[in-house]
Amino acid sequence: MSDNNLPLSRPSLGEEEIGEILDVIQSGWITSGPRVKRFEEEFSRYVGARHAVAVNSCTAALHVALLAHGIGAGDEVITSSMTWSATANMIEVLGAKPVFADVDRQTLQVTPETVSAVMTERTRAILPVHFAGQSCDLDGLAGLAASHGLTIIQDAAHAVGTEFCGRRIGGGDLTACFSFHPIKNITTGEGGMITTDSDELADKFRLLRFHGVNRDAWSRYGKIDSPRYETVTPGWKYNLTDLQAALGIHQLAKLDGFIERRTHLAELYRDQLAGIDGVKPLGPASGTSRHAWHLFVVTIEADQFGCDRDRFMQLMAQQGVGTGLHFTAVHLHEHYRSRYGYALGDIPNTEWASDRVVSLPLFPRMSDADVTRVCEAIRTIKRGIS
Ligand SMILES: *Cc1c(COP(=O)(O)O)cnc(C)c1O
Repeated sequence: MSDNNLPLSRPSLGEEEIGEILDVIQSGWITSGPRVKRFEEEFSRYVGARHAVAVNSCTAALHVALLAHGIGAGDEVITSSMTWSATANMIEVLGAKPVFADVDRQTLQVTPETVSAVMTERTRAILPVHFAGQSCDLDGLAGLAASHGLTIIQDAAHAVGTEFCGRRIGGGDLTACFSFHPIKNITTGEGGMITTDSDELADKFRLLRFHGVNRDAWSRYGKIDSPRYETVTPGWKYNLTDLQAALGIHQLAKLDGFIERRTHLAELYRDQLAGIDGVKPLGPASGTSRHAWHLFVVTIEADQFGCDRDRFMQLMAQQGVGTGLHFTAVHLHEHYRSRYGYALGDIPNTEWASDRVVSLPLFPRMSDADVTRVCEAIRTIKRGIS
């Protein structure tokens, strides 16, 4: 790629992260230790939860959260098909069945109505995906869950810093799973976090992320009161390292600034795209009091624009502009089609979106002029085909 290309996303890492990484290396302790502890404490304070448990991806977070909530064979978990495969995959690997609720076309979120429509007597949990940085109707979903005795586990991979009715996603007692993959609003290279107010769940998360051994490596080697350890349950190896947490600590401190910048860029996009037929940004999700602007997603209406989404992405690449596809409907992927027999028409709004969504470049270090460039590229393409 030439220097002149504009990527979909690029992480914003700086001197603070570099300095902290050097300190970690010089400290001699590079795996899970004091930096992870500090990152967890600062993250739990930021979202307003009693506990934040760091893991090495959001996929791991979802796995551990589902396990800790007791989801297993025979259970149904209602989720969105407008998501990254990991959301459904983690339900599937536990032997449970992902049941896909349709999304609202304006926001691409599941709603209490669409979730309600697919509930059965085997439903055990609701796993909503807060799409693109807005929140689902959490109160509506929590009410539904409470009245049917269901658990809520949030896929908050897009929602670091998102607020619903003035409350941060991840705060309170509903389990939330976050991602720190490089494309996400803050990054640790790879990484994730699970938040909850429950002491009991937090203990389970910690146990399952580290071998099912009831003390992690740092407390075993760092603070020796007893050298003994005990395998309580067969667990996984999902711990975050201090090298990664070194990034996370400084990324978290910069998050509000990142979101401010993303919000400004999103407003520019909305102004400049307003006159282009066939390119439509998503609409606001009611209840979302702070949009974290993880992604700037538009839908391409082929009849009006002149070409479909796939062609649009190719033509944008030719203009030197990177785009992203978040997401193609999970229920139409090979495994889910063949296992559950899904066919086109089964989940109509999700399929509608799956054919039309495209993410435009959005990251804090983009300039205002970069937004203009993207919108100019779109106009150029439209002129070229009409
Ligand atoms: C990125 C993402 C994940 C997975 O996060 P990882 O940290 O890469 O495991 C899960 N769900 C959604 C909606 C995502 O966008």
